[in-house]
Amino acid sequence: MTSGDFRALVGAMAAAIAENADHLTDLDSAIGDGDHGANMKRGFQAVLGELDQLVANPVPNAIKAAGMKLVMTVGGASGPLVGTFFMTLGKELPADFDRDALVTAYEKAVDAVAARGKSQAGQKTMLDVLYPILDAAKHGADLNQIAARAKAAAEATIPMLATRGRASFLGERSIGHMDPGAASVALLAGVVARTLPTHEGA
Ligand code: ADP
Ligand code: MG
Repeated sequence: MTSGDFRALVGAMAAAIAENADHLTDLDSAIGDGDHGANMKRGFQAVLGELDQLVANPVPNAIKAAGMKLVMTVGGASGPLVGTFFMTLGKELPADFDRDALVTAYEKAVDAVAARGKSQAGQKTMLDVLYPILDAAKHGADLNQIAARAKAAAEATIPMLATRGRASFLGERSIGHMDPGAASVALLAGVVARTLPTHEGA
């Protein structure tokens, strides 16, 4: 992954989050406090604003710095979690990484989110998409297959009962709505699949 790939990815992620901010906020209005779209948009716009400085660094450092920026700007419960994901991913990636190194670093990043959130799969959170992505990647899925799995996993949060995060305050009333954080992760997985293959196909 080159600095050019990183630049393209950040631009596409920020654009997708901005386009879908109202949708993400609607999801959060149903089972949370209606700020998830605005939170994510603010964070990704902040990263976009620093893109020129970020791409001057090796890609893993740029990913780590983007994560730090997200922690500072997203806010809510999701800010520290999304930020921790990218910070850990950047920290764990070697300077020159292949697919296996990426999957290993991704696993550490997802585990760091779980540790930070004191959460696990099955609680109707972003982890219910992050872990299925890991599973698909470990089984050799390509980026399009991973994105499809992420989309299905986000949809699978609809019938789940929330036991972590703000949605858990609703108890049974959390059932029947997609988790907003899960929707964000699926959206970003789709962006990765659409953006990276044109550069390197992996
Ligand atoms: P807040 O809940 O503080 O308003 P956001 O609306 O930005 O923050 O984000 C809500 C999302 O954060 C949820 O949909 C869920 O996916 C995720 N989330 C919240 N708490 C946790 C947690 N402890 N572990 C994992 N994900 C969490
Ligand atoms: Mg919220």
